[in-house]
Amino acid sequence: MFKGTSASAGIGIGKAVIVEETELKIKKDTITDVDAEKARFQRAVNQAMEETDALAKDLATRVGEKEAEILNGHLLLLSDPMLVGEIETSISGEMVNSEFAIETVCNTYADMFASMGDELMQQRATDMRDIKTRIQKILLGVSSVDIGALPAGSVIVARDLTPSMTAGINPANVTGIVTELGGKTSHSAILARALEIPAVVALDGIMSQIKDGTDLILDGSEGVVFADPDQAVREEYTAKRDAFLKEKKELEQYIGKPTVTKDGVTIELVANIGKPEDVDKVLHYDGEGVGLFRTEFLFMDRNSMPTEEEQFEAYRKVASAMNGKPVIIRTLDIGGDKEIPYMGLEKDENPFLGYRAIRFCLDRKDDVYRPQLRALLRASAFGNIRIMVPMVTCLEEYREAKALIEEIKKELDEASISYKKDIQVGIMVETAAASLMADAFAKEVDFFSIGTNDLTQYTMSVDRGNDKVSYLYSPLNPAVLRSISHVIECGRKEGIMVGMCGEAASDPMLIPLLLAFGLNEFSMSASAILNARKLITGYSTQELKEVAKQVMTFVTVKEVEDYMKDFISRS
Ligand code: PEP
Ligand code: MG
Repeated sequence: MFKGTSASAGIGIGKAVIVEETELKIKKDTITDVDAEKARFQRAVNQAMEETDALAKDLATRVGEKEAEILNGHLLLLSDPMLVGEIETSISGEMVNSEFAIETVCNTYADMFASMGDELMQQRATDMRDIKTRIQKILLGVSSVDIGALPAGSVIVARDLTPSMTAGINPANVTGIVTELGGKTSHSAILARALEIPAVVALDGIMSQIKDGTDLILDGSEGVVFADPDQAVREEYTAKRDAFLKEKKELEQYIGKPTVTKDGVTIELVANIGKPEDVDKVLHYDGEGVGLFRTEFLFMDRNSMPTEEEQFEAYRKVASAMNGKPVIIRTLDIGGDKEIPYMGLEKDENPFLGYRAIRFCLDRKDDVYRPQLRALLRASAFGNIRIMVPMVTCLEEYREAKALIEEIKKELDEASISYKKDIQVGIMVETAAASLMADAFAKEVDFFSIGTNDLTQYTMSVDRGNDKVSYLYSPLNPAVLRSISHVIECGRKEGIMVGMCGEAASDPMLIPLLLAFGLNEFSMSASAILNARKLITGYSTQELKEVAKQVMTFVTVKEVEDYMKDFISRS
């Protein structure tokens, strides 16, 4: 048995698929033999077509004709005489290697499609980038597992998964994820929860101990993995999986019910999303809005920045789908564990303390922040969008962002472009500085959303992804609890909404305390919403006040945990 960190609940039973990804480095080389290079390119295209055709046929039988259509579209692109002709012209005209010619020609088309804005063109841009990488990998001799087309019953075993790889997984075929790196709040873990795939992370050295095809069982709730399990373990975990799925079914009775505590306090129960498509899940689980749209996912897995038009479409889609319900969209939060290669960021010595999020955006107003804010404001005409600024540490940062928003509003007025005039602008409270200054912030901002993933990291001075120090990483630590309760109190004093979009918002040990502190809004993975509604509707905030009072006298995390475990087992 291997012990790691639980990252996404549920039991996964299947066969190991080892996934190793290498990043493509495209170099520009000068060639001498044009014909030989063209022939090399053509061979790669032919191979790409054969592979894509096989994948499409496989997908059609396993998943469906509709899904296979995407790959058939790739085949059309690969055989497009204009595209192939342009790449060949680039090879012969500029005397460059095929990899480089493909890079430039395909990127030009992809960027052009992307800038056209409509959904179909977006898909074309994505397809163009996909086929580009496929041919380049063949040319470079880099093989990779097509993560979107793994056989049914696969358990992915990887060193780490990038968020974009995780997003490409077909949940119908992947029964589990096991990684060497990562933590409970790494973005791949968050996505695994969104996809409802059981996951265990931080299993040091697992890649060298498991072979492709090994039978695996993982318990994403307990953080354990069994390789080649015996019959007894198999039976035990099959029964556990059935019980888990049964409980999930029972929670469906909470769909359509209001989120009101026993003593009549109405709570907003909303969802965290990373892509516009995630809204389907929010609606499925009856989310009352979106409490956090992590827009950095729109910037990932591509070679250039999404244009204002592309962003506008994405934000508008979410706002329209939520049909007047609140949609809090966070402005770009990159840096830390979220790298975007084309942004040209230098490696920070201390990425979590460095050039990231609002610090980066205010430094890149013209090419990054302004287009995003314009897209957000324009999309606000289609729903109840609120803007949220991440990683704020001082009032000046908020004021500068707000001033830029006001400036863009004026531009839109002059151009007679509509937007939500009274759009709310709030901040994530996720740094120790913002928490300590919450009283001052509360006087200026429209809302708070407490980001406990980072607030815990910055309060405890503990890297949220480092397993060696994870014993210190707990939002139940009295230091973090004091911070949370202080922020809520400051927000309530000024009458602004205080929400929470960190993982703690769905933690059964914390929900009673947060209700007692007076949190207004809880934002979490869509799949956690119904369980949270079940818990919230079972409590009375008045009764919980006593519990919170007692908890706030404790000085160690152990005391808090023991008390809360005992309280939960009794309630
Ligand atoms: C947080 O820090 O709690 C949060 C919600 O943001 P992220 O996990 O994206 O850093
Ligand atoms: Mg954060």
